[in-house]
Order: sequence, then structure tokens, then C-alpha cells
Amino acid sequence: MQIINQLDSLRDNVASLRDVGARIALVPTMGALHAGHMALVDAAKNSADAVVVSVFVNPTQFGPNEDLDAYPRTLDRDVEMLQKADVDLLWAPSAATVYPAGFSTKVQVGGPSAGYDGAARPGHFDGVALVVAKLFNQVQPDVALFGEKDFQQLAVIRQMVRDLDFSFEIVGVPIVRDVDGLALSSRNAYLSTDERRAALALPRALANAAKAIRGGADVEDATAAAKAGILSAGFSNVDYFALADAVTLEPLSHFDGRDARLLAAAKIGKTRLIDNMAI
Ligand code: AMP
Repeated sequence: MQIINQLDSLRDNVASLRDVGARIALVPTMGALHAGHMALVDAAKNSADAVVVSVFVNPTQFGPNEDLDAYPRTLDRDVEMLQKADVDLLWAPSAATVYPAGFSTKVQVGGPSAGYDGAARPGHFDGVALVVAKLFNQVQPDVALFGEKDFQQLAVIRQMVRDLDFSFEIVGVPIVRDVDGLALSSRNAYLSTDERRAALALPRALANAAKAIRGGADVEDATAAAKAGILSAGFSNVDYFALADAVTLEPLSHFDGRDARLLAAAKIGKTRLIDNMAI
């Protein structure tokens, strides 16, 4: 695996892969890799000849009071995992390479970025869209893979790809969960033992609410019961727990049989967790 920090070297290496006719997959990450990320790498290997993984903790998607400085950085371990998975290129640029002095462009995606994390984290999806658009132009992949763990992010990226005529395929990969059901996340590293145990209330509430709504329960009743369950388990607040159209993310007050998704974010101790589940 080539480890690359400079854009000209990335372009040379991608061009060499193209010269031999390789179909190229891109997996964008912020590092601190776990089995959820590696599921994207596996899916990438199944849909392309060569895999480029980016590891970049993107400062523009963090708010001023968020965890940019504390975000786990484990590059040596990440390199080992990616080497073991036989990834072709690791693109690990510095912040100054991605955002050189004088950088002044913004990317703002409407539609599915409204509400949920878009409301709870102002500017977050602008930062995500900006860095992902840059990664798309830097690597120019044939396919890019994103996890359903960040379901709203996936919807925002699909919208941007449609709107800006990016011509490659976006693949969404199902959520990888720990054996007990908690969605794997780099931020789970922040949880104490007690918080880790209590955090299970989030996927449990999603599973119960999904089952109830599928069975005809009132959406408002089901989401209210879910919020109460999450709070009584020890979470300090629930940013949102809502039913949404799975494509537009428009909020749904009734389940009418369409492809719908429960989306949730809640805070336990200092850690904010997000999760989602299909109805
Ligand atoms: P991150 O490093 O958190 O920015 O995540 C990089 C990519 O991995 C995103 O597309 C995430 O949705 C995806 N991802 C993170 N955790 C999981 C998980 N538990 N299951 C599936 N995909 C995941």
C-alpha cells in the first residue's frame, strides 16, 4: 500500500492505476478505523479493482465547540489495518494540503441536509460536502462508498452528486454493529464502561420503535416512548428521534408503507451518538 500525503503524488498514483485499466473505488474516512470502516473497504474491493482510502479529520465539519482536537487519531493502527486488507492507496493529506492559505470556497447542499444533524450541528454538512467534493475531484473514482451509519450524510452526498453531475456511483453500506447491537463508531472510544453499557438504549429504542411503527403504532407515541427510554437509561438529552422518508429525509408523522428510516441522535456524558434503523 502506498501512503500518500501530497496531491501530485496522489494524482500520479491514481493515473498509474488507470493506465492498467483499473476501476477505482474511494472510501473516505476520518481514521480511527474499526470494523464498520473495514466493511466499506470490503464492499469497495468487491466493486472495483483498486481501492483508495482517505484518512483526514476534516476541520470544516466540526463546530467551534465540538471534538476536533479530541477526535481519536490512530494512523499507525489504521495503516496496519488497511495494509492487511490489501488497500492500494492511503490518501492522508494534512489540513494545510486540503485547505491551503487563502482557501475560500464553500459547498452548501440543500434538501436532505435540513433538520436532524443539519439543525443540531450548524455548518456540519457544508464541511462534509466541501471535503467530499474535494476528495471526489482529487481521486476521481469510479465508485465511492459511504456507511448508512451516517444516514443523513449519505443522503446529502447523493443529492450533491446528482446536483453537481458527478458521474460515478455512490454505494451505501449497511451499519456494522457490535455484538450487543451498538453501532460501531470512532466516538465509542470516548465512552466509560457504564456509558458503554447504557448506550445500548439507543439501538434498543430504535428497534422497538421500528417494530411498533411497522405494526401500526402512532409515530408520535412510538418516538415519545423511545425518547423516554433513552433518557431513563442515562442519556442527558435526545437531539432528535424522528421518522423520515429514506430518500428526501422529509419528516413523516405517519408511516404510509414507503421506504422510511428512524433517525436518532442523543448525548451520554460528553459523547454524542447517532444511529438509525429502517422501518
Ligand atoms: P468516519 O470516519 O466516522 O467519518 O466514517 C467514515 C465512513 O465510514 C462513513 O461513510 C461512515 O458512515 C462509515 N461508517 C462509520 N461507522 C460505520 C458503521 N458502524 N457501519 C457502517 N459504516 C460506518
